[in-house]
Amino acid sequence: MNRTDVLFTISAILIVIAACTSVELNVMDTPEPIPDKLVVTIETKNAFAEEVDQTPTPMAATAVPEPQIIEAFVWHENPQIPILNFHRFTPRLIDGETGTLMQLTKFKAIIQGLYDAGYSLISLRDYLDGRIVVPEGRKPLILSIDDAYFANQLSLNEDGTPSDKSGVGWLYDFSQKKPDFGFHVAMFANFGDKYYGNVFRYDWWYLGEGWEDDFAKTIVWGMEHNVMPYNHLWRHPDLEQLADKDILMQAQKNDEALRGYLQRAERGDLIAWLDNFIALPYGKWPLYESGVNTLLSYIDPEGKPLEAVFEAGYEYKPMMALSPFDEEFDAFHIPRMAPVDRVVEFVLENAENLPSNLRCLLELPAVAGARDEEALISAIELAIKKKNCPQGIFIVDELIFVARDGTVFLWE
Ligand SMILES: [Zn+2]
Repeated sequence: MNRTDVLFTISAILIVIAACTSVELNVMDTPEPIPDKLVVTIETKNAFAEEVDQTPTPMAATAVPEPQIIEAFVWHENPQIPILNFHRFTPRLIDGETGTLMQLTKFKAIIQGLYDAGYSLISLRDYLDGRIVVPEGRKPLILSIDDAYFANQLSLNEDGTPSDKSGVGWLYDFSQKKPDFGFHVAMFANFGDKYYGNVFRYDWWYLGEGWEDDFAKTIVWGMEHNVMPYNHLWRHPDLEQLADKDILMQAQKNDEALRGYLQRAERGDLIAWLDNFIALPYGKWPLYESGVNTLLSYIDPEGKPLEAVFEAGYEYKPMMALSPFDEEFDAFHIPRMAPVDRVVEFVLENAENLPSNLRCLLELPAVAGARDEEALISAIELAIKKKNCPQGIFIVDELIFVARDGTVFLWE
């Protein structure tokens, strides 16, 4: 009998650094991968086939079909997720670290530590949708990178593979060796304040001819591998200082530039994958309510309203992000922490105490569709009654159910 395979992609550890670099003309990096979905396959048994073959009678007995077995992931307690926000990386050992520049060797050590502590990456899309699933026993983690794209964040080799000299490129290789870590990174980009270094010489990237084409390819590679670009505004403005009318312009121009790069790479089809999420530059909100409302009313070029705002600076008061199942969850104030030592320690120390999802199997009548909500609710009730699954949040492919106090309902 088969079971469902779940494809995990890696989400990223988002370490948010409060202070982002301001306008820089610098060598930039590359993109992010594709949004993953849980792929659940359903197996049915065909146990009667043999018998039927053996009986040449024209009136074969009708077999009672066996139930379908469906995989569900259950959170007995609501998940809590650390979001770590990184900035730039350097492969050059001579470079000193700053608030926004980290030695690649240090990044590698942090990632290894997070993996060893039991974390696995999830995507921002799945997080906001509540489709929070990690391999059983592991804990969800989100990685974001602000001030994208610099080549030191993501770049490709000449053969189109990711460069292990870049942070996200190295992370991709790591996740290939540790598939249970997954691979998801959120890139909060400013397209209006930097160039992208497309030529690597010895130990660094330099601006070369055709950089925009190479940059576009990097963004595309990323999206195809769950490195997703989001909005960090056009020129990394300090929103406290910005007139309301300029807030929309900063969001819009940045979104248009991203779509321009996808068109340049002849991958306009990827535009449909984009989400309207903003990370606040410097973690700052507009000073006045009118500015806040202006920002929150931003609609992207495809007409998607702003869905989430990612803050920064929580390294001063380390905390996990709540899941959308929590009453306190606020999609416009999602906390991110810069990966300073004390934050990394906080995340590592808490790994053991964080909840994890269980995997459990549901029996669905053979005739029911895999998305038959009523049948799934009955199957969940039965599984709880038989003590095969605990009460909690049930994630069944794209559907999510809440089983609480003896009742089961669809979560929307
Ligand atoms: Zn920034």
